[in-house]
Amino acid sequence: MRHNSRAGVSEKMRVTGIENGFRNRLRNSFANSPVILRWLMAGCVAVCLWLPVQAFAAGTINIYSHRQQILIQPFLDEFTKATGIQTKVVYASKGLAQRLQAEGAASPADVILTVDIARLAEYANLDLLASVESAVLTANIPAHLRASDNRWFGLSERARIVVTSRDRVPADAIQRIEDLADAEWQQRICTRPGSHVYNRALMASLIAAHGAEAAQSWAEKLVANLARKPQGNDRAQAKAIFQGICDVAIMNSYYYGNMKFNDDAEQRSWADAIRLVFTNQADRGNHINISGGGVAKHSRNKQQAVAFLEFLTGEVAQQLYGTVNYEYPVNPAVAPPAELASWGPFKRDKLPIERLAELAPQAQMIIDRVGW
Ligand code: FE
Repeated sequence: MRHNSRAGVSEKMRVTGIENGFRNRLRNSFANSPVILRWLMAGCVAVCLWLPVQAFAAGTINIYSHRQQILIQPFLDEFTKATGIQTKVVYASKGLAQRLQAEGAASPADVILTVDIARLAEYANLDLLASVESAVLTANIPAHLRASDNRWFGLSERARIVVTSRDRVPADAIQRIEDLADAEWQQRICTRPGSHVYNRALMASLIAAHGAEAAQSWAEKLVANLARKPQGNDRAQAKAIFQGICDVAIMNSYYYGNMKFNDDAEQRSWADAIRLVFTNQADRGNHINISGGGVAKHSRNKQQAVAFLEFLTGEVAQQLYGTVNYEYPVNPAVAPPAELASWGPFKRDKLPIERLAELAPQAQMIIDRVGW
């Protein structure tokens, strides 16, 4: 051991000696060079130091997005304007997690953007996301809207609300999501299938609030009150109210904005037919889901990827979520834009979003059992 260690020391001295000799020769040749050459050498060193800093500061990030290009492009433009970092997007409505998994460590992905806790949880469960330490993200996003292990972050809030017929249902007839189980609404409710991620998360929130048994009893009564077999997307439920097929429906609130300001007059008439009801205002608050994102586990541009997520939680982007898709800011320091504000302030359920993912399998079992 001792011998080896002495050998190690003398080897180190030998290397240091060579280095000193090289350094001396470099210093001498610099001192002996003509002034112009000295300026060139100094310039070269400066450029060599500056280039990597620039590559680090700017560069390009690859985004895998479940969100449509038309929705995220305004965010990308603002991000590049603010940071100089370019963005490339792979857009797909499904299969991105499987693609990322198949690509493994060779994946070019830096950032994942998606909607709904179910999809964020899928990435987390497949171990496709990096844990990110960022004081900016921690400050801008309330703790209940991000993963406790910092693998995903809520970037906008989406309220799943009740909508009612303006003509056929009095303004204050429904106060709580639990009210949909009342016999009063028999044959009057429309929803999309229960197994859709939006409804599964809502079901999970009811399990969290009341326990599985009471939640199942609610779901049974809801199904008994349906005016038709669950079908269509959220907008189709507003259309059904417009057509008089039902009087009450469950819908994400941003669809109201999307219909109200749609180029298609038909969709505008669906929006005109409904009234928004933020539920559970006197107790836990309205159920909330998120759009969100995370940094890909094998990202080679982690710093820029984190900078992008941070940008998405800042003032400019948080406002954009409201103006582009009528989603609410997660950052409590950012006020929603005027149109969203006009729908009224409302109390949100502060249940940790993570809990919705944990309860999702149980929620799905109830949904299957009651035939929602
Ligand atoms: Fe949606």
